[in-house]
Amino acid sequence: MTPVPLEPGGPVPSDPSADGVGGPERVVVVGAGFAGLNAVRHLARQPVAVTIVDHHNFHTFQPLLYQVATAGLEPADVAYPVRTIFGREHNVVFRHGQVASVDLEARTLVLEDGATIPYDALVVATGATTGYFGVPGAVRHALPLYTLADARRVRNRVLGCLEAADARPEDFDGGAPSFVVVGGGATGVETSGALVELLDLSVRRDRLRIDPERTRVHLLEAGDRLLGGFRPEAGSYAQATLQSRGVDVRLETPVAEVTDRGVRLADGTWLPATVVVWAGGVTVDGTLAAGLAGRRGRGGRVLLEPDLSLPGHPEVFVAGDAGAVPWGPGRTDPTPQVAQVAIQSGRHAAEQIGRRRQGLPTTAFRYHDKGLMATIGRHAAVAQLRRGPLLRGTLGWLAWLGLHLVYLVGFRNRAVVLINWFWRYLDWPSGPRLIVADVDAESEDEAHAPPDDPGTGPAAAAQPAARRRGGKRGGTTGTGRSTKAPAAAPPPAAAPEPAAAPEPAAAPAAPDGSGAGGGSQDAAPPGATSA
Ligand SMILES: Cc1cc2nc3c(=O)[nH]c(=O)nc-3n(C[C@H](O)[C@H](O)[C@H](O)COP(=O)(O)OP(=O)(O)OC[C@H]3O[C@@H](n4cnc5c(N)ncnc54)[C@H](O)[C@@H]3O)c2cc1C
Repeated sequence: MTPVPLEPGGPVPSDPSADGVGGPERVVVVGAGFAGLNAVRHLARQPVAVTIVDHHNFHTFQPLLYQVATAGLEPADVAYPVRTIFGREHNVVFRHGQVASVDLEARTLVLEDGATIPYDALVVATGATTGYFGVPGAVRHALPLYTLADARRVRNRVLGCLEAADARPEDFDGGAPSFVVVGGGATGVETSGALVELLDLSVRRDRLRIDPERTRVHLLEAGDRLLGGFRPEAGSYAQATLQSRGVDVRLETPVAEVTDRGVRLADGTWLPATVVVWAGGVTVDGTLAAGLAGRRGRGGRVLLEPDLSLPGHPEVFVAGDAGAVPWGPGRTDPTPQVAQVAIQSGRHAAEQIGRRRQGLPTTAFRYHDKGLMATIGRHAAVAQLRRGPLLRGTLGWLAWLGLHLVYLVGFRNRAVVLINWFWRYLDWPSGPRLIVADVDAESEDEAHAPPDDPGTGPAAAAQPAARRRGGKRGGTTGTGRSTKAPAAAPPPAAAPEPAAAPEPAAAPAAPDGSGAGGGSQDAAPPGATSA
């Protein structure tokens, strides 16, 4: 989101004739991510009646999810209620609910609760979801990092297993836990960097009795370098920095299978893992946008007209990760799935709705590339501006910190995050290292988990039985998004026996061709901050 102050939107005309027969144009925006929010911010200033629908009642700042997952920030620090964001916009209403389908002919949305919402113009900004790319066992045993609920689940699992290692080190292979992060894009780099910092803190400040020498963090990437969408020197810097901090970085290492005890690599190597975090890519398959009529491109992204409308439906626009948003005139390949594209395309879609309302021709979208950023940890980040040198080290880190603060929604969140970072920087004790998985309310997350072998490995031992299923769930939950993982066939029964004959190098190609373990998508590093 742009740091635009919220201004009261223009009032909806009370005289129906002021805006056409039957009242103001009804604009519906599905999704309160970066694209949806920015569309609505622009629409709020137009004489239209806006409804924003989301199955979460909050906006999630995805770039900081990894900090929630590694106990650096609280979930509430990176989320903001949609109703609060638009509380002063009198022509905007929020509807909490899951849109099940779009009837393009009737111009109606159907919600999962059976309600229908008619529209005159529609913006579909439903984002993407975790892509497992058919890797056996990944849906069931790997922990995705896409939603706030995912991040909280990773945090619970990681902290739970550290406590279990303190209490019963003999339960763990090698006497200590090991963590595997799949995908060497920005999310994977950031997560593995933050994990080693959490381990250090756990031993040094929390006096957990785990052997740092034997505790492992592995980062697996199918491609030949980290940070695929960045310049090569950014990947080399990230790799060298992570390795110097103790992360085992493995390139050209696709994952063939995930079980509750670890991962099998495409070359047959078995890697024990207490927790497997999946940052291997995203897909639009299985989301609402995938059900729209028309053609779809790599990663299931909806192919669009240059003005971002759906072909054959000039009243429907697709913005953000859901669409194959083109770079602009003269360059029709899709932009990366990053926040800046979502922000700019959401705003553009809203502008086009305004132009159509005024009887003006629509204009082609043009992406203004502001660069990419990723952090590796304390005093280490890369900031790749569109022009000029690559910033790295402390300078890149400060740029990364500043930019994330600016783009975070809500003054309260910015203040809290700043204090948190400062606190941690000074190495003061405390921080949100709380395991909250043992409260009854959490069980809702698990009620939708696929049927599963409850697991017998140390990761499972670290969790109550009801929580041993970590994978992305099929269907939809009240706290999660539609979580079908379409690229992945229903996972086969777990193959917990590491000694079993290795699968052929299954790792099917990710949308960018990188295969599981590849962290990039359409040259977009999921998790890379667009500066
Ligand atoms: C872990 C992670 C880290 C990232 N880090 C960075 C980074 O550092 N920098 C960067 O530039 N980009 C980063 N990205 C990518 C960036 O966050 C996305 O490109 C951006 O969020 C896309 O915005 P969007 O609005 O298209 O979709 P989203 O932000 O995904 O929003 C989609 C919204 O639609 C809602 N929704 C979906 N389906 C339905 C439905 N059927 N009914 C109702 N509501 C629905 C969802 O609840 C959600 O609120 C990261 C992504 C992830 C997952």
